[in-house]
Amino acid sequence: MAEINQMEKLVSLCKRRGFVFPSSEIYGGFAAIYDYGHYGTLLKNNIRDAWWKHMVQYRDDVVGLDSAIFMHPKTWVASGHVDSFDDPQIDCKKCKARMRADHILEVFGINADKQPLEFINAEIKKLKELGKLKCQACGSTDVTEAKRFSLMVKSNLGSPTDALSEENVVYLRPETCGGIYLEYKNTVDSTRVKLPFGIAQIGKAFRNEIVARQFIFRTREFEQMEMQYFLHPSIMKEKYEMWKKLRWDWYLEYGIAGENIQWHQHEKLAHYASEAYDVEYDFKSLGGFKEIEGVHARGNWDLSQHAKFSGVDLSYLDEKTGERFVPHIMETSVGLGRLFLMFLDKAYTEEEIKEGEVRTVLKLDKRLAPIKVAIFPLMKNKPELVSKAREIFDGLKMRWMCEFDDNGNVGKRYRRQDEIGTPYCVTVDFDSLEDGAVTVRDRDTMRQERIGIEKLESFFSGKFYN
Ligand code: ATP
Repeated sequence: MAEINQMEKLVSLCKRRGFVFPSSEIYGGFAAIYDYGHYGTLLKNNIRDAWWKHMVQYRDDVVGLDSAIFMHPKTWVASGHVDSFDDPQIDCKKCKARMRADHILEVFGINADKQPLEFINAEIKKLKELGKLKCQACGSTDVTEAKRFSLMVKSNLGSPTDALSEENVVYLRPETCGGIYLEYKNTVDSTRVKLPFGIAQIGKAFRNEIVARQFIFRTREFEQMEMQYFLHPSIMKEKYEMWKKLRWDWYLEYGIAGENIQWHQHEKLAHYASEAYDVEYDFKSLGGFKEIEGVHARGNWDLSQHAKFSGVDLSYLDEKTGERFVPHIMETSVGLGRLFLMFLDKAYTEEEIKEGEVRTVLKLDKRLAPIKVAIFPLMKNKPELVSKAREIFDGLKMRWMCEFDDNGNVGKRYRRQDEIGTPYCVTVDFDSLEDGAVTVRDRDTMRQERIGIEKLESFFSGKFYN
């Protein structure tokens, strides 16, 4: 079971080195919720910034937004989420485990994605009759029929009582794009954007996932990075292909090999959609290709529905052609936590450096690495070395996330920095005091070279894009 080992190793490294902790551990944990520690926060922020740069900063046709998690409850009625944002759930009568019926059917090669409950239950019945349907936890064949389980998370924001009734329910957003649709008009009115243009946002989303036991791959609270591109339907095909290529190239740019990602085309589309593809990554830790990002052509469903339910005109007047129409939307939607897991999965490496000695190293893209440079005095109890190392740290930290470390021997410090993926370690030794040079050690090749202290900044410049 190589995959399981790989996942166990990642989970353990994440906890040991302060990347990801299970939430509320001192209270016994809280299922499918995770906290990001120091290095995890840094890595996550770097992935977030890499996305933002490509989606907003480097473009002149996409603007940003940071909308609230809470929105008017009608938002989710208009979008169809209240009625139908659910997954088919089956329960084991013996051990009470909950399972996703569509995932179980997938194991038998049956695609139940967006299929009606009747279809799912007919397939489940056939498998039951053949004695093939078993609880994934205890192996019992005594499982229920599938029923719809809503993924919407409710809150009682602003309610005078604690009780939730249909009138006072407020939802925690299940996806971030809802806020984009609601701020479409304000954005057009305030930022001088003209079609085609996009609105991008990064933020938390909440889903009451039935099964969530794949570490941070599927959690009940997660961050999404979404971009909604508003356009005239006549250019949908062209822009869809453009965004598919841009997103694909983004993965390659950050070191994901072409053979480790693939497009998966949705067979069954929502009635308003014209195209839907997912990017899938071949996770070593999850045993194969799994969805990380969706690229969807959504027609004009979203704005039309919100116009209908709010009574506000959301149409667009093309000043050149004089045509008035409700813009169509093509979206890219990716989970930040899933990208985090993908980059870790890709980076995690065990290398035999000499017989019987294995080093664990995170070969993260240098721009994404949580710490860019670690600075060591060779010995902790030599004040001249310590103050020189501090001086270098104080200079470099103004540009990059650096770490000063004087604990244990240098070999041990290298191992620790390897495990958190630090691309360069700088050691100040006795020669440094004479020749003004330090030893710079490269994480991947482990090669060491002497570099003058005054040349360090220019040496690192360009390696991390700041
Ligand atoms: P899945 O089929 O895996 O449940 P989905 O098709 O419902 O995902 P979308 O609604 O298209 O997902 O969401 C877009 C992206 O948001 C996904 O590709 C994924 O990266 C991320 N995402 C969705 N649900 C979760 C979750 N529960 N935990 C972490 N990331 C998620």
